[in-house]
Amino acid sequence: MSDTDPQGGSPTGRSVLVTGGNRGIGRAIAEAFLAQGDRVAVTTRSGGAPDGALDVRCDVTDPAAVDAAFAEVEAAHGPVEVLVANAGITQDTLLLRMSEDDWSSVIDTNLTGSYRLAKRAAKGMLRLRRGRIILISSVVGLLGSAGQANYAASKAGLVGMARSLARELGSRSITTNVVAPGFVETDMTGVLTDEQRDTIKAQVPLGRYAVPAEVASAVTWLASDDAGYVTGAVIPVDGGLGMGH
Ligand code: NDP
Repeated sequence: MSDTDPQGGSPTGRSVLVTGGNRGIGRAIAEAFLAQGDRVAVTTRSGGAPDGALDVRCDVTDPAAVDAAFAEVEAAHGPVEVLVANAGITQDTLLLRMSEDDWSSVIDTNLTGSYRLAKRAAKGMLRLRRGRIILISSVVGLLGSAGQANYAASKAGLVGMARSLARELGSRSITTNVVAPGFVETDMTGVLTDEQRDTIKAQVPLGRYAVPAEVASAVTWLASDDAGYVTGAVIPVDGGLGMGH
């Protein structure tokens, strides 16, 4: 499994699994772990992992596919030591227009998908007696967002889940934390109009969107030895947008 880097004393060569790592925030996270010498597997539905990562197909809404993806990663890289549950979708609309499918598809991907991943990862981590589980939430999970009741509920749910897992798994040196990005330049926010983007930027104390690498920095820190005593935390990477929440 992990070796110790003689330069810095940090673990390298860990088995890292990043869901949704073919683009946007997940890709930046996968690239950051690759750059530090970890063995990275990226799962998506459509493929296209960054160079150097194991490219695994997995729809997180399918429990059998999640199990099969872990088996593939374990065979190639050993048990997953760092899980980053990043895959997520939006299906925005106002409450009275929100269909059962709009609601359940977002909850199933963002929240239940993360439960499936964390449960499968925890099996191996409990045997190793160490591990890092990092869930990618959103500032809107705590702030709320008109037109995003489904998405905000899914992202708020991750906080309760992470804090419960932090309590369940902590005695085995497994940490569970949440990263809550604000608005980040990715395909997900690429659909917003210039007017919407300007309105958002005006509310962000730093006055700009994040780039994906800025979210990745928080994730690699949570996975590092330096964050060994951090669990059940919600780390905002939001330019100050969610302050106080
Ligand atoms: P993108 O839309 O750019 O990418 C989403 C990723 O998730 C893709 O890799 C996609 O791969 C994967 N994915 C979606 N559905 C599934 C599924 N059912 N099974 C497996 N993989 C899936 O998103 P971002 O990079 O912008 O967002 C990444 C995460 O960060 C999400 O959880 C999002 O909610 C969160 N976030 C984003 C913010 C932003 O401003 N962009 C702000 C706050 C949080 P494929 O389609 O190939 O399966």
